[in-house]
Amino acid sequence: MTEETIFSKIIRREVPADIVYQDDEVTAFRDINPQAPVHILVVPNRRIVMASTVEDDDRDVLGRLFLVARQVAEQEGLGKGYRLIVNSGEHAHMEVPHLHVHLLGGEPLGPLLCR
Ligand code: AMP
Repeated sequence: MTEETIFSKIIRREVPADIVYQDDEVTAFRDINPQAPVHILVVPNRRIVMASTVEDDDRDVLGRLFLVARQVAEQEGLGKGYRLIVNSGEHAHMEVPHLHVHLLGGEPLGPLLCR
């Protein structure tokens, strides 16, 4: 899991993506395969592999992910609510090993778990 992923290239704007927010620490862009009317990924610019590998040094940027998610949710008009999901590892069906928060909303989302 040492190799960077497509997300690093999106963050550096080397591959196209619909970026809705970016600062020095965090980038948010629309998921290429949306599972809801609004489906945005909120990603730390410095790669953290997944939730199960977070360290004390990641504390500040992890907090920033929630703050950016809130800001983007407001930007997207998700006043009726939204869901934040973080997948970690094989059983969670994590596909991209660069930690990201899924921000989903825009309609009632139903129960949490799908199998
Ligand atoms: P996860 O299963 O939590 O690792 O989610 C990875 C997400 O990244 C999936 O929802 C994919 O649709 C999304 N994804 C993969 N490649 C891209 C890309 N190039 N641009 C935007 N979203 C992507």
